[in-house]
Amino acid sequence: MSPRQQLYIGGAWVDPATSETIEVISPHTEQVIAKVAAPAPANVDRAVAAARRAFDAGPWPRMDPQDRVAIVRELAEFYCAREEELAQLITSEMGAPITFSRSAHAKLPGVMMRAFADTAAGYPWRETRAGFLGGGVVVGHEPVGVVAAIIPWNMPMFLTVGKLIPALLAGCTVVLKPSPETPLDAQLMAELLDLVGLPPGVVSILPGGREVGRYLVSHPGVDKVSFTGSTAAGRQVAEVCGSALRRVSLELGGKSAAVVLDDADPDAVATGMTVAGLMNGGQACVAQTRVLVPWHRRHEFVDALVSVVENLTVGNPFDPATRVGPMVSHRQQQRVREYIDLGEREGARLMLGGTAVPEGLARGWYVRPTVFAEVDNSMRIAQEEIFGPVLSVIAYTDDEHAVSLANDTEYGLSGSVWSPDLERATGIARRVRAGTLGINEPYSMDPVAPFGGVKNSGYGREFGVEGLAGYLDTVSLSIRPAVVNPPVSPASSAGASRAAGPPRETS
Ligand code: NAD
Repeated sequence: MSPRQQLYIGGAWVDPATSETIEVISPHTEQVIAKVAAPAPANVDRAVAAARRAFDAGPWPRMDPQDRVAIVRELAEFYCAREEELAQLITSEMGAPITFSRSAHAKLPGVMMRAFADTAAGYPWRETRAGFLGGGVVVGHEPVGVVAAIIPWNMPMFLTVGKLIPALLAGCTVVLKPSPETPLDAQLMAELLDLVGLPPGVVSILPGGREVGRYLVSHPGVDKVSFTGSTAAGRQVAEVCGSALRRVSLELGGKSAAVVLDDADPDAVATGMTVAGLMNGGQACVAQTRVLVPWHRRHEFVDALVSVVENLTVGNPFDPATRVGPMVSHRQQQRVREYIDLGEREGARLMLGGTAVPEGLARGWYVRPTVFAEVDNSMRIAQEEIFGPVLSVIAYTDDEHAVSLANDTEYGLSGSVWSPDLERATGIARRVRAGTLGINEPYSMDPVAPFGGVKNSGYGREFGVEGLAGYLDTVSLSIRPAVVNPPVSPASSAGASRAAGPPRETS
């Protein structure tokens, strides 16, 4: 796919309203690899107007839901045929190791599309209930309207599919705003949508920065905002939506804990952590970067972790041997190194990694995978989202202490518990305040399992029936048989109309 210099608005490629462009920079080479059109406010206006028309007067929201399911299934076919191309694009624009791009960035969204289509196919769109007060009640599920979907750069296609497909299946129309770091995969999605021939106006895709995002979420033509990004930006979005009384769902940051019980196997846990904590170079909202280990076995767990992490290949993300690629941007690389520096100043013990550039990787935004031990949960490296390959090992004294440390965070997105004793592990997991937890499972994101956060990780759920419901309004229709009066003769009818006429004025 060659990058487009036009914007995909309402189902057509149109010239942008400005000559400004977005430069896509390879995190590996630091070279500009593509330039794409940047949207201006006039383009947002046009996209929202097209979505509004398509929602208010077009066929999409009124179609039989099963017809929308058929279109999404067709889209999934087209999508799966281009998975490898997509994996290459995502690795080039945001630096994820190609093996991770193939499995998570490219393959999973196709699986999710099919799972979401199945969910919508079996959804109870209309339900008849016997009225408690007599009569009948029909409960229907109708699309919420025009959706503004805001996507971060770290899992661009996964998150696009997580919002766009349930919104479409619900019958909504969508204006999608991907991040400026990752516009190329978004253009590929636009090409695929073109192939299935949606009615005009149903989808627009405007990759752009936060100014475009701000303008879009505050647009009066938008009915619902579905936002994924940082907690700081999510707060701003919530304020805008609060004052406009606009529906909003927020998938925000995390600082999740892996609770390792005292009967867990150190090697299995260490291997699990390379996924749970370090997938995508640690640039994952669900990253479990606090590893809680029992005090009396802390050295064993730290040693196992260090020996697994030090063997991860860091480097060119296109090399299939690479497990940790570069950070998405220079800014992100700097931020992660600052946190590593901070951890040392806070008194944590640096066991592996550090701020030095990895050997042989002077070019590219690389950071050494880093393990800190002797971390206190009150340290900033244990409380703030670093969004890089940095693990903090924190020791606990007993199960009670482990639970209280896991919950001692402003966030509540994900987490895991590690133990061969599933009953004990499940009991602990139930006490951790987070939206999605795994037992001996580093990557618990099943398309049928509702996903989302509590506390400052946001609200609302994506995936599964609950994810679809987030794009639906529930409406009730109470039905009673009409009252049919017996036919009346003309003579009595004249009398009746006099009796029913307006009261005569009296002096
Ligand atoms: P970010 O908040 O800077 O930006 C996210 C998206 O929001 C981008 O498209 C950006 O342009 C847009 N944006 C920023 N400010 C906005 C505003 N005021 N109004 C409207 N749009 C705005 O985050 P990022 O650096 O791109 O992504 C990393 C963050 O995303 C991390 O905090 C990570 O935890 C979070 N994240 C959360 C989930 C989840 O499902 N909970 C998934 C992935 C990433």
